[in-house]
Amino acid sequence: MPYDTNNIFARILRGEIPCNKVYENDHALAFNDIHPQAPTHILVIPKGPYVSMTDFSQKASAAEQAAFFAAIAAIVAEKKLDESGYRTIANTGVHGGQEVPHFHIHILAGKKLGRMVSAEAA
Ligand code: 5GP
Repeated sequence: MPYDTNNIFARILRGEIPCNKVYENDHALAFNDIHPQAPTHILVIPKGPYVSMTDFSQKASAAEQAAFFAAIAAIVAEKKLDESGYRTIANTGVHGGQEVPHFHIHILAGKKLGRMVSAEAA
């Protein structure tokens, strides 16, 4: 799938749509999800134009990949998420339930999160 430069996260990166920023480095931006599914629900996105986890892992430079995971680590440390635990999710494609075609990882925390997938999905 080609990258859609008008997807909502591309527009956030260009400053066309506001976001509640949590963290930023040279290659990654993190902000609160607009429809939180847990007390803490943060989205971490690369600044580069990558559609999915697959696209990012195949095409992003070592510096971009390092900065992306450094962003997650910094957020976890800053918010002390290791103390009670947290979940990261990267939805990919149709079966993965990906809605926004710009690679992102969800960080969810702040309560027990239950089953990894819903019973009907199993
Ligand atoms: P996906 O289903 O693609 O893994 O997750 C996309 C996420 O983006 C959803 O959790 C949704 O709530 C969030 N989202 C969609 N539009 C916006 C927006 O304009 N701002 C923010 N902060 N989050 C958004």
